[in-house]
Amino acid sequence: MAVVGTGFGGLGAAVRLRRAGVTDFVVLERADSVGGTWRDNSYPGCACDVPSHLYAFSFAPNPDWPRTFSGQEHIRAYLDHVADVFRLRRHIRFNSEVKRMTWNSERLWWDIETSSGRLCADVVVSATGPLSDPRIPDLPGIDSFPGKVFHSARWDHDYDLRGKRVAVVGTGASAIQIVPEIQPRVGRLTLFQRTPPWVMPRVDRAISGIERRLHRHLPFTTRLRRGFLWGVREVQVQAFTRHPGELGLVERMAKRNMARAVKDPALRAKLTPDYRLGCKRILLSNTYYPALTRPNVDVVASSLAEIDGSTVVAADGTRAEADAIVFGTGFHVTDMPIAERVVGADGRTLADTWAESGMRSLRGASAAGFPNWLTIIGPNTGLGNSSMILVIESQLNYMVDFLRQLGALGGRVALDARPAAVTAWNLRVQERMKRTVWSTGGCTSWYLDASGRNTTIWPGTTTEFRSATRRVHLDEYEVLRETTKATETRKTEAGA
Ligand SMILES: Cc1cc2nc3c(=O)[nH]c(=O)nc-3n(C[C@H](O)[C@H](O)[C@H](O)COP(=O)(O)OP(=O)(O)OC[C@H]3O[C@@H](n4cnc5c(N)ncnc54)[C@H](O)[C@@H]3O)c2cc1C
Repeated sequence: MAVVGTGFGGLGAAVRLRRAGVTDFVVLERADSVGGTWRDNSYPGCACDVPSHLYAFSFAPNPDWPRTFSGQEHIRAYLDHVADVFRLRRHIRFNSEVKRMTWNSERLWWDIETSSGRLCADVVVSATGPLSDPRIPDLPGIDSFPGKVFHSARWDHDYDLRGKRVAVVGTGASAIQIVPEIQPRVGRLTLFQRTPPWVMPRVDRAISGIERRLHRHLPFTTRLRRGFLWGVREVQVQAFTRHPGELGLVERMAKRNMARAVKDPALRAKLTPDYRLGCKRILLSNTYYPALTRPNVDVVASSLAEIDGSTVVAADGTRAEADAIVFGTGFHVTDMPIAERVVGADGRTLADTWAESGMRSLRGASAAGFPNWLTIIGPNTGLGNSSMILVIESQLNYMVDFLRQLGALGGRVALDARPAAVTAWNLRVQERMKRTVWSTGGCTSWYLDASGRNTTIWPGTTTEFRSATRRVHLDEYEVLRETTKATETRKTEAGA
């Protein structure tokens, strides 16, 4: 088996494989350390928007989280700890970027080309992450900008921002964490805002020594805390998926939060969203709005359109001088980069297969024509209000059952999702999507693909997702078996 990626998805898969008694597997990672997106995102202020005790594996609780919301460095350290405690490093091949995976229909295995060599695997678990490959808009003039340019997920810590004129592009989850951190240091900060986000207070505090001791000595208290955090979100999600009108109440709270920090009515008008709260990700911060009121900050309510020498130019014509441009412009999400590198049974890549239909899968995991290939955080598995670790663990249950079914079938077999099952699953998902705030909220978000279809979000509770992925329904798959000729060739080769 080959697992790709060493974020929560890849490390979680490795733990579950070992627990299922599978030891003959490798984990391929293009970087030189574990941590996934929590290794790559080290920008100032980088932190999680889900409380620490819920943003962890259920099988590896951490009684020692120092804060109610974890910073990047603590999550990264947690993943390092998981890799050590579960002795996963022996399976990991670092500096091994998967360049291409090609299904071998004769042999019923995947031929994998990596930057460190070739291998073949009966089953591939692709955990390359939904927010892993940064997206920088292709702006006219960017190549001739004389200053520094970087993306939030590739922060250049050697570049000193002190006293510099900095353009920050975007007002998503990363940008609103970055702005308050760098504002006191920079000379001038120009923020390019295409759409204002809804921002709610962040109820973050240090977890006391007493609480931590309690969690350490009475582990059920950690589970209780996690259960409470999960339960609240499980109830809340009904407003997102079934009753978006109820979110109007929360909008009023968000507006009060803004009014407390932003006294200037003109700035408040710029920062007030014109779409339903929840349609785009709700952001949490106590410092973002205060930072925007500082004298060295300009908010440009327009997207960045072009760069003219050292001048950054907004779509509305606003111009500003900049020494550095920081892009908080998100990731390749609906155009999953690994899809271009996976070649299925008919010789087409997954990206080609998805070109017309948009990203689609069976139960967020498998794709028709790509046998024995499972993805973690595949199409329509994202959450708008809870922890992705819950989704990942559900998908790992599915992976373990997939392997159990393969074992039960016996011999060299592969499971290929039936096109009709994929269609039925997606009709179900898209039907439920119609009522959700992500469809009715009146916004354009990174949850939507180029054709406006939501191919990223799961339109239900995590309990429903868990139940849908508890086991593999064999009738949704075609069972492929090795041909007699291939068996003979394999035996001859093994003998030689
Ligand atoms: C700044 C930020 C904040 C976030 N906050 C939250 C939050 O508050 N709550 C929440 O639930 N989620 C949050 N997320 C989402 C986060 O992506 C998921 O929660 C989770 O960490 C994804 O884990 P993963 O293992 O699937 O992917 P990743 O952590 O992205 O790991 C993917 C790994 O695959 C490797 N890889 C990719 N392509 C290849 C290749 N071709 N060959 C070899 N290796 C490859 C990458 O190097 C990486 O190590 C946040 C993400 C970011 C970026």
